[in-house]
Amino acid sequence: MSITLNTPLKTIPRIGPVYIEKLKKLGLKNVRDLLFYFPFRYDDFSEILPIDKIEEGQVVSVRGKIIDIRNVRTKFKRMNLTEALIEDESNCIKAVWFNQPFLTRNLVKGMNVSLSGKVVYTRDGLQLSNPAYEILGSDREIMHTARLVPVYHETEGLSSRWLRLHIKPLLKLADELDDWLPAEIRKNQNLVSLSEAVKEIHFPTNENKATQAKRRLAFNELFIIQLFIQKQRKNWQKNKAVQIEFKGETEEKIKQFIANLPFKLTDAQRVSAWQILKDLDKSEPMNRLLEGDVGSGKTLVALIAALAAAKKQGSGCQTAIMAPTEILARQHFEEAKERFENFEIKVGLLTASESKVKISLLGGARGGLETNLTHPQPPPERGVKKLKKSELIEEIKNGEIDIVIGTHALLQEKVEFKNLALVIIDEQHRFGIEQRSELQQKVTKIKDGLETTVPHLLTMTATPIPRTLALSVYGDLDLSILDEMPQGRREIITKLVAPANREKAYQFIGEQIKKGRQAFVICPLIDESDKLEVKSAIQEHEKLSRKIFPNLKIGLLHGKLKPKEKEAMMKEFGEGKINILVSTSVVEVGIDVPNASVMMIEGSERFGLAQLHQFRGRVGRSEFRSFCFLFTDSTAQKTHRRLKALLKNSSGFELAEQDLKIRGPGELAGVRQSGLPDLAMASLSDVELIKQARSEATLILNKNADLKAYPKLLSKLESFRERVHFE
Ligand code: ADP
Ligand code: MG
Repeated sequence: MSITLNTPLKTIPRIGPVYIEKLKKLGLKNVRDLLFYFPFRYDDFSEILPIDKIEEGQVVSVRGKIIDIRNVRTKFKRMNLTEALIEDESNCIKAVWFNQPFLTRNLVKGMNVSLSGKVVYTRDGLQLSNPAYEILGSDREIMHTARLVPVYHETEGLSSRWLRLHIKPLLKLADELDDWLPAEIRKNQNLVSLSEAVKEIHFPTNENKATQAKRRLAFNELFIIQLFIQKQRKNWQKNKAVQIEFKGETEEKIKQFIANLPFKLTDAQRVSAWQILKDLDKSEPMNRLLEGDVGSGKTLVALIAALAAAKKQGSGCQTAIMAPTEILARQHFEEAKERFENFEIKVGLLTASESKVKISLLGGARGGLETNLTHPQPPPERGVKKLKKSELIEEIKNGEIDIVIGTHALLQEKVEFKNLALVIIDEQHRFGIEQRSELQQKVTKIKDGLETTVPHLLTMTATPIPRTLALSVYGDLDLSILDEMPQGRREIITKLVAPANREKAYQFIGEQIKKGRQAFVICPLIDESDKLEVKSAIQEHEKLSRKIFPNLKIGLLHGKLKPKEKEAMMKEFGEGKINILVSTSVVEVGIDVPNASVMMIEGSERFGLAQLHQFRGRVGRSEFRSFCFLFTDSTAQKTHRRLKALLKNSSGFELAEQDLKIRGPGELAGVRQSGLPDLAMASLSDVELIKQARSEATLILNKNADLKAYPKLLSKLESFRERVHFE
């Protein structure tokens, strides 16, 4: 059988069925997939020394003959050791492995081997501790020792060693890879060929070659993303939108609205609202992202935009506001209801949990200006009214409703608008970049009386991604940032809790609950079998409800629940029927339970600072003093230092910057969720490369907007679109 890039791994005789399953877990199905499974780092074992030249503390490789090898059991800690004595022309040295007794099956006396590892000093002199090994022979290629050795993300039972062993013989197939990057760009950017890059990324000849390979492959990813985004943006801008001029009645109403608020807008809200109003005042569709820390008041900015649309001069236009969950939609509805009390705005709430549909409606008849004196109109309706779904849909269709708030079921339901001018998507980080553009496409397809236009698009997110990074992930989009909190917010008391103080913390929570408050308990992972030593939410729930708080009602929320179950649980918690909600990170979304005053986070070292900050933002939403307890069993200084940043810092943006510095871009929640491949993620801090990828993408689109002259590139872009589509 001749093997090609498309050969399924399961037809390769060397790979057994057990491994096929494991490879599938990593998303690897054919040879090409395997070749594109890149290492995330290298062990540098390239220094090869004669045994008499090695020193304590070095990481080195030695080559020699095994003159003795045996398994021994230590008396003290009852460990299984494998000890070998290796000899070269200069000297001999002991190598020791822990708990790998099977080694003596492979390594036997008389063999020539290559060993790489750390040199330690013991009572018996210098030793190689747990070295990587391989048997030397004329027909064997070096892959685990004595070079830059690739280290891969592993899955259970699938080690880097295994991957090296199976990737190496397939690497020659890299020559068959079709390089889709136009030659001119390769030349401009001084990039190595795709086949060379793929070979060198796995088994680099030297450091420099590895860097070149990485640069080429990272460029690939960044370039495709930029191309995708820019093309999308161009397409978007070709559309026409309804121009909402900021003058006359529109301007008046907005000013009145702001003046009537029970509080002052923050400067950041003022600036962002202004940027949005200016965008709306164009016939080119807006595509703006509003980034704002939890509680920074994004909804209000959104409502200002919606008000502008509703009060457009001449004839008002409609706005759709989409939230990722029903609870959030309901929350927005409540806020809209309150804020628009005296503005003659009709707001509809449309949430479609499969069978049940709840519709509420705020009165305030439209067109109140044309009062007919001889035929006095009935007084305008006020308050919330429940409508049948069909009735609400009818009112949306005939333009009765100014603002429709709902889940993204809004896109799926048979909702038709009369004159939709603005779509607002809340918590868009839940959707990722790929779905973002998807949404954009869907938005253009919303049935609407204004056939020739698309609505302006405002997306909002509470994930604080630093500006530079946001630009590289999202491309050249317009960005408004709420980096300022409304006045009078009380700071949340944040404490790092040592394991010894756990009982005290529970006591404290108990007291808070006695006072009528509620608490969140966050656990990072739900799967018991997961090897990471993190308490699973299920276990934690058990423990809390059986042992710690047997008299309280404890709820459980995790990703394996159905959306409906999640909603129901959050609802119960919101209504105060549950005292403590144990949850995985799914609770992150901007849920508002003002009565909750304690956020307790288990295994906090496993989260990024920005994400912890998000959790913390779930409390402190009312006049009650609120608390955030960070639990960690880690004793590492570094971890403590990192977590302590949360004690001092209450700005999500600053924390995100710190995350970026300490943990790299891949750990930022918003970036992680963006669905970028690892390599692109790793290069996100390479601002220079991002800029180059961006400008090359601009250049080529300017030259050939439809990319017809670059068929390979076009088909690559198509498969990128598909990939992001299905993720
Ligand atoms: P987020 O940005 O997290 O979505 P919200 O829009 O939910 O924040 O706002 C949180 C709360 O702050 C809401 O109750 C809102 O009415 C209130 N709020 C918004 N802007 C201000 C402000 N400028 N001053 C005081 N409170 C504000
Ligand atoms: Mg919000």
